[in-house]
Amino acid sequence: MKSAEFKSYLSRAVDLIGEWEGSYGDFRRHPSLEIEPAELSAALGEYATRLKDNYPFFHPRYAGQMLKPPHPAAVIGYLAAMLINPNNHALDGGPATGQMEKEVVSDLSKMFHIPDPSLGHLTSSGTIANLEALWVARSIHPYKAVAFSEDAHYTHSRMSEVLGLPTVQIPTDEFGRLRVDILEEKIKEGNIGTVVATAGTTGLGVVDPISDILALRSRYDFRVHIDAAYGGFFSLLAWGNNEIMTGDTVRHLRGIGACDSVAVDPHKHGLQPYGCGCIIFRDPEVGKFYRHDSPYTYFTSEELHLGEISLECSRAGAAAGALWLTLKLLPLEAESGLGAILSATIRAARKWSALIEASEAFKLYIHPELDILTFYPAAEHNSASEIDRKSQGLFRQAMESVDDPVFLSVLRVSSRNMEWRVPNFISDQAQVRILRSVLMKPEHEDYVPHLHGRLLELV
Ligand SMILES: *Cc1c(COP(=O)(O)O)cnc(C)c1O
Repeated sequence: MKSAEFKSYLSRAVDLIGEWEGSYGDFRRHPSLEIEPAELSAALGEYATRLKDNYPFFHPRYAGQMLKPPHPAAVIGYLAAMLINPNNHALDGGPATGQMEKEVVSDLSKMFHIPDPSLGHLTSSGTIANLEALWVARSIHPYKAVAFSEDAHYTHSRMSEVLGLPTVQIPTDEFGRLRVDILEEKIKEGNIGTVVATAGTTGLGVVDPISDILALRSRYDFRVHIDAAYGGFFSLLAWGNNEIMTGDTVRHLRGIGACDSVAVDPHKHGLQPYGCGCIIFRDPEVGKFYRHDSPYTYFTSEELHLGEISLECSRAGAAAGALWLTLKLLPLEAESGLGAILSATIRAARKWSALIEASEAFKLYIHPELDILTFYPAAEHNSASEIDRKSQGLFRQAMESVDDPVFLSVLRVSSRNMEWRVPNFISDQAQVRILRSVLMKPEHEDYVPHLHGRLLELV
């Protein structure tokens, strides 16, 4: 969207809300709220200067962490609702955005092919969404352990600690996937109540073997929670009629619909500003664990309020409004809408991985399953310390370049993992930093040759 067009929609959003406000009649604004235009102007100038201390998340030369600006439609939607500032804690905190929240959560539930009726709501983050899943799991399997892979997000061990639940860490295979054979051995020992599988690990973007874990669930009694905070939206492609995703990735992403709960972050791949996670439970009965008897919040409806099925109290109605408006324009479809954006990010990762495989200077760490690429500079002596030093050096040099910077991230992997890959590997330290690139913008597809060329110049 061009800047002039964007500005006109922002100003239209302000006008539309102003018109609605006007319908309630005039009143005198309190003088204590007034500010001097000159002071605002000066403060805004200072603010803008300070905001320049940022990395260019919007630009394809930024290919580091999971960061990008929201879609303009989300900004327009957020702004309009924020002017009203509804609170989706309860329907009377914001009837319109409360209804929109139900609609978008139902859309997300359909994206995963979770059968109706399910139970879900937006959260302020993936962390809270995962916490709620583990909290419900604790109510169903009190005192039993939570199992997750060594590559699972650190939030699972931390939230298990908050909940007082024991944890079991399951090793990964050389491709970064949870080892189902070891999981089964641990389950046989008898104390595992919940298995967390990740759809799109934060480090490598790998999908755990969800369908194989579900096959185990039919033989043992445990819950399966999917942490799809990052990769959940790629389910669209797994259910679509396209060639972009194949084999095990499709099989495992399609398994999500049969799991007990799933967490997904619209503020990662759903084009939203921060403050938008989501938790969905397959069985709506779990709503009973949320029951509380707050005397002050509800009065307009007999229905279950969003605040009655959420651990958080106040939540931005604007987050639901922004997602609703975005999905109107870029719906959850495989071939168009959000699917077309996600396909481009996957193609970008594959394009760059092909360039890396054809080059002498870099080696691929694993083939990208989604849109996260991991690689490292080729080393003369194949030692952990040398690969680590070269990766870290290139990372800094690329970022600090003045005329043509490239922003990557570094990932720490174990030397054990490098031994599987590097012939005659010298394991002179326990961990190795390698390079990692999250290619989450569709523009990366065109820009990847430039990123690769620039790194070749610098290495
Ligand atoms: C980002 C992420 C989280 C944490 O979500 P927040 O929204 O940052 O709180 C959890 N799990 C995975 C797999 C993630 O990628």
